Amino acid sequence: MNLILFGPPGVGKGTQALRLAAAYDLLHISTGDMLRAAIAEGSPLGRTAQKFVESGGLVPDDIIIGLVREVLERLPEEKKGFLLDGFPRTLEQARALDELFRELGIADVRIVMLTAPEHELIDRMLRRGIEQNRKDDSAETIRHRLEVYSAQTEPVKAYYEKSRGVKMADGLGAVDEVTMRIEREIGKP
Ligand code: AMP
Repeated sequence: MNLILFGPPGVGKGTQALRLAAAYDLLHISTGDMLRAAIAEGSPLGRTAQKFVESGGLVPDDIIIGLVREVLERLPEEKKGFLLDGFPRTLEQARALDELFRELGIADVRIVMLTAPEHELIDRMLRRGIEQNRKDDSAETIRHRLEVYSAQTEPVKAYYEKSRGVKMADGLGAVDEVTMRIEREIGKP
């Protein structure tokens, strides 16, 4: 089984992705983590991505699609599948991903969308900004990231609703409770 964990910034995708990847033995693919690592390293990818990530915008589709392609083409055999966290974030990325799945013969992909009210997302990101020192979790950048989400990422939900279907899970409440809700949607590991 392969999973796409989808939802607005601050909804808890990263936290849930780590738990689900461990429980279902999936490779956790977080484009945000990959970009942050590249920025910390100062690699060419990091230098290109930095201004987009720190301003709360999106890294250009061709760069991010190339990154995901490299990972999906070399999936470790010992894992039972993969979990995409933070990708796709635009319709172009979703279409490219479908094409990549076709090319690589990847069929069993389930999409889970986590939801939470906007004020909760903002509170969580502000807290994370302090705890993890994330530059893109400042008040102004958070507002921009939420706008980018509504304009560019939200349409991906409708795209998947028409094709693969989307399982919804409430992201409010204790971390364990949210994990259990997702497990109920996709089936126990
Ligand atoms: P995240 O950790 O998923 O919230 O991602 C942090 C930042 O990395 C985002 O605000 C974007 O600037 C960038 N990023 C992560 N994933 C993508 C993606 N799929 N497409 C474009 N930019 C991305």
